[in-house]
Amino acid sequence: MCIFCKIINRQIPSSIVYENDYVLAFLDNTQATPGHTLIVPKKHFANFFELDELYATEIIKAAKIVAQKLQDNFHCEGLNLLNNNNVAGGQSVFHYHMHVIPRYANDPVNLALPQHEITNEQLNKTLNELCK
Ligand code: AMP
Ligand code: ZN
Repeated sequence: MCIFCKIINRQIPSSIVYENDYVLAFLDNTQATPGHTLIVPKKHFANFFELDELYATEIIKAAKIVAQKLQDNFHCEGLNLLNNNNVAGGQSVFHYHMHVIPRYANDPVNLALPQHEITNEQLNKTLNELCK
Protein backbone atom coordinates (compact mmCIF):
# COMPACT_ATOMS: atom_id res chain seq x y z
CA MET A 1 0.00 0.00 0.00
CA CYS A 2 1.34 3.47 -0.85
CA ILE A 3 2.26 6.04 1.80
CA PHE A 4 -0.74 8.29 1.10
CA CYS A 5 -3.14 5.31 1.25
CA LYS A 6 -1.61 4.58 4.68
CA ILE A 7 -2.25 8.19 5.72
CA ILE A 8 -5.86 7.91 4.49
CA ASN A 9 -6.27 4.66 6.48
CA ARG A 10 -4.72 6.28 9.59
CA GLN A 11 -1.83 3.81 9.56
CA ILE A 12 0.53 6.81 9.37
CA PRO A 13 -0.23 10.03 11.28
CA SER A 14 -0.84 13.29 9.45
CA SER A 15 -1.97 16.82 10.26
CA ILE A 16 -5.47 16.88 8.80
CA VAL A 17 -6.69 20.22 7.46
CA TYR A 18 -9.96 19.03 5.88
CA GLU A 19 -11.68 15.83 4.82
CA ASN A 20 -14.92 14.49 3.40
CA ASP A 21 -16.01 11.16 1.87
CA TYR A 22 -13.83 11.68 -1.22
CA VAL A 23 -10.71 13.57 -0.22
CA LEU A 24 -8.24 14.16 2.59
CA ALA A 25 -6.23 17.36 2.96
CA PHE A 26 -3.18 17.33 5.27
CA LEU A 27 -0.10 19.43 5.84
CA ASP A 28 2.86 18.57 3.65
CA ASN A 29 5.58 17.54 6.10
CA THR A 30 8.20 19.68 4.34
CA GLN A 31 6.15 22.96 4.37
CA ALA A 32 7.46 24.89 1.33
CA THR A 33 5.68 27.81 3.00
CA PRO A 34 3.64 27.85 6.24
CA GLY A 35 0.31 26.15 5.50
CA HIS A 36 1.51 24.09 2.50
CA THR A 37 -1.20 21.43 2.18
CA LEU A 38 -1.67 18.30 0.08
CA ILE A 39 -5.10 17.17 -1.12
CA VAL A 40 -5.44 13.49 -2.01
CA PRO A 41 -8.35 11.40 -3.29
CA LYS A 42 -9.41 8.67 -0.83
CA LYS A 43 -9.12 6.19 -3.70
CA HIS A 44 -5.72 5.31 -5.12
CA PHE A 45 -5.03 6.92 -8.50
CA ALA A 46 -1.36 7.13 -9.44
CA ASN A 47 -1.59 10.45 -11.24
CA PHE A 48 -3.79 12.96 -13.07
CA PHE A 49 -4.02 10.71 -16.14
CA GLU A 50 -5.70 8.05 -13.98
CA LEU A 51 -7.82 10.37 -11.82
CA ASP A 52 -11.52 10.12 -12.69
CA GLU A 53 -13.86 13.08 -13.15
CA LEU A 54 -15.70 12.65 -9.86
CA TYR A 55 -12.48 12.77 -7.83
CA ALA A 56 -11.01 15.53 -10.00
CA THR A 57 -14.06 17.64 -9.16
CA GLU A 58 -13.80 16.83 -5.47
CA ILE A 59 -10.09 17.75 -5.43
CA ILE A 60 -10.84 21.20 -6.86
CA LYS A 61 -13.76 21.73 -4.45
CA ALA A 62 -11.48 20.87 -1.53
CA ALA A 63 -8.76 23.18 -2.90
CA LYS A 64 -11.27 26.05 -2.70
CA ILE A 65 -12.00 25.20 0.95
CA VAL A 66 -8.31 24.96 1.87
CA ALA A 67 -7.52 28.18 -0.02
CA GLN A 68 -10.22 29.97 1.96
CA LYS A 69 -8.73 28.75 5.25
CA LEU A 70 -5.27 29.93 4.17
CA GLN A 71 -6.63 33.33 3.22
CA ASP A 72 -8.77 33.75 6.34
CA ASN A 73 -6.35 32.41 8.94
CA PHE A 74 -2.87 32.84 7.44
CA HIS A 75 -3.64 35.94 5.36
CA CYS A 76 -1.62 34.55 2.46
CA GLU A 77 -0.98 37.06 -0.31
CA GLY A 78 -0.93 34.53 -3.14
CA LEU A 79 -1.45 30.86 -3.85
CA ASN A 80 -0.12 28.15 -6.15
CA LEU A 81 -1.97 24.95 -7.00
CA LEU A 82 0.61 22.44 -8.17
CA ASN A 83 0.28 18.84 -9.32
CA ASN A 84 3.38 16.93 -10.42
CA ASN A 85 2.84 13.88 -12.64
CA ASN A 86 5.27 11.03 -13.26
CA VAL A 87 9.02 11.18 -12.79
CA ALA A 88 9.42 13.57 -15.72
CA GLY A 89 6.92 15.90 -14.05
CA GLY A 90 8.71 15.84 -10.71
CA GLN A 91 6.33 13.45 -8.93
CA SER A 92 7.85 11.59 -5.98
CA VAL A 93 4.75 10.04 -4.34
CA PHE A 94 2.73 8.05 -6.86
CA HIS A 95 -0.72 8.65 -5.41
CA TYR A 96 -2.32 11.68 -7.09
CA HIS A 97 -2.04 14.83 -4.97
CA MET A 98 -2.60 18.53 -5.39
CA HIS A 99 -0.20 20.86 -3.57
CA VAL A 100 -1.89 23.96 -2.19
CA ILE A 101 0.96 26.38 -1.56
CA PRO A 102 0.20 29.71 0.10
CA ARG A 103 2.51 32.46 -1.06
CA TYR A 104 3.91 35.35 0.92
CA ALA A 105 6.00 38.32 -0.11
CA ASN A 106 9.68 37.32 -0.31
CA ASP A 107 8.98 33.67 0.42
CA PRO A 108 11.60 31.10 -0.76
CA VAL A 109 9.44 29.41 -3.42
CA ASN A 110 10.55 29.69 -7.06
CA LEU A 111 8.22 28.18 -9.67
CA ALA A 112 9.45 30.29 -12.60
CA LEU A 113 8.78 28.70 -16.01
CA PRO A 114 11.08 29.17 -19.00
CA GLN A 115 9.79 31.70 -21.51
CA HIS A 116 10.57 31.12 -25.19
CA GLU A 117 10.18 33.49 -28.12
CA ILE A 118 7.60 31.74 -30.35
CA THR A 119 6.30 32.80 -33.76
CA ASN A 120 2.63 32.51 -34.76
CA GLU A 121 3.68 29.84 -37.27
CA GLN A 122 5.23 27.75 -34.53
CA LEU A 123 2.14 28.20 -32.34
CA ASN A 124 -0.12 27.13 -35.21
CA LYS A 125 2.04 24.08 -35.92
CA THR A 126 1.86 23.07 -32.26
CA LEU A 127 -1.92 23.63 -32.19
CA ASN A 128 -2.45 21.51 -35.31
CA GLU A 129 -0.39 18.64 -33.91
CA LEU A 130 -2.09 18.83 -30.53
CA CYS A 131 -5.66 18.93 -31.85
CA LYS A 132 -5.49 16.65 -34.90
P1 AMP B 1 5.54 15.35 -5.22
O1 AMP B 1 7.01 15.59 -5.38
O2 AMP B 1 4.68 16.30 -5.99
O3 AMP B 1 5.17 13.89 -5.48
O4 AMP B 1 5.22 15.70 -3.71
C1 AMP B 1 5.23 14.75 -2.68
C2 AMP B 1 5.11 15.55 -1.40
O5 AMP B 1 4.70 14.65 -0.38
C3 AMP B 1 6.40 16.21 -0.93
O6 AMP B 1 6.22 17.63 -0.89
C4 AMP B 1 6.63 15.62 0.46
O7 AMP B 1 7.10 16.57 1.37
C5 AMP B 1 5.23 15.12 0.83
N1 AMP B 1 5.19 14.01 1.76
C6 AMP B 1 5.81 12.81 1.64
N2 AMP B 1 5.52 12.03 2.69
C7 AMP B 1 4.69 12.74 3.50
C8 AMP B 1 4.05 12.49 4.75
N3 AMP B 1 4.19 11.31 5.40
N4 AMP B 1 3.29 13.47 5.29
C9 AMP B 1 3.14 14.65 4.66
N5 AMP B 1 3.71 14.95 3.47
C10 AMP B 1 4.48 14.01 2.90
ZN1 ZN C 1 -2.28 5.30 -2.60
